[in-house]
Amino acid sequence: MQRALALSVVLLASAGPLLAWGRLGHVLVSELALKDLPPEVAAWFKGQEDYFKEHASDPDHWRQDRKEGPRHYLDTEGYGGPQGVPFEVSEALGKIGPERFQKSGQVPWVIQDRLRDLVDAFKKGDRAQITLAATVLGHYVADLHVPLHTTNNHNGQDTGQKGVHTRWETGLVERYASLNALQVMPATQEPGLFRAPWKWMQEANALVPKLLEDDRGADRTSPEGPRGKRRGEAYWAVFGNLQTPVVRQQLSLAAKHLAQMIQYALLLAGKPAA
Ligand SMILES: [Zn+2]
Ligand SMILES: [Zn+2]
Repeated sequence: MQRALALSVVLLASAGPLLAWGRLGHVLVSELALKDLPPEVAAWFKGQEDYFKEHASDPDHWRQDRKEGPRHYLDTEGYGGPQGVPFEVSEALGKIGPERFQKSGQVPWVIQDRLRDLVDAFKKGDRAQITLAATVLGHYVADLHVPLHTTNNHNGQDTGQKGVHTRWETGLVERYASLNALQVMPATQEPGLFRAPWKWMQEANALVPKLLEDDRGADRTSPEGPRGKRRGEAYWAVFGNLQTPVVRQQLSLAAKHLAQMIQYALLLAGKPAA
């Protein structure tokens, strides 16, 4: 009994953080996205701000559906790198086959699907449905901005840096990110937004080598303990100094891109008044 309990705790601890920014990261993206929206669009969410914030991590708890996990990332290596990921699902399936397609992750296509849900909700003008759809969309948009969500080596397991995933998206966020430290970037409409997730994915992926290098550099301060590296204040100071600007930039960009998508959905729905 005790052993089974211990095992389930280990499973929870190891599976949990890999799906997303920690809870705080998602909350920050949602809060900031509302500030990035023009007032007439933000008006749709009046009175729903708390829901939007508090449910931002919900999709991370939907894992009783076995297909949910891979919706939060995309390992780009199978496609020959981020530039090689096709826009069309049919093409992606043709390129790597259904089994690898399922395992490699689907986040950019999931964002497109959730954007369609939001358009439908705006067409109906149903505020509860709009908030729900925007909250879910926001989760996946935020996840795509985590550099390690775009690579096979998502937890540093291939480079001897196990745990770097949580150190970056939770450790740094909890230590060095807050709403005031992020940048309000007013949403502006840009052409080609429906395919923009592929560009966001390429930009996030370009941040991976430096992120891993900085973790290795910071780890030179970490003494070896009986159960691996012991990361103390020196580690966090060095890693934080090098990567906090990147963490804040990715959170700020995720919020801006979410706001752009919300604005775009409203436009596609024919701009009904709030
Ligand atoms: Zn997630
Ligand atoms: Zn993650």
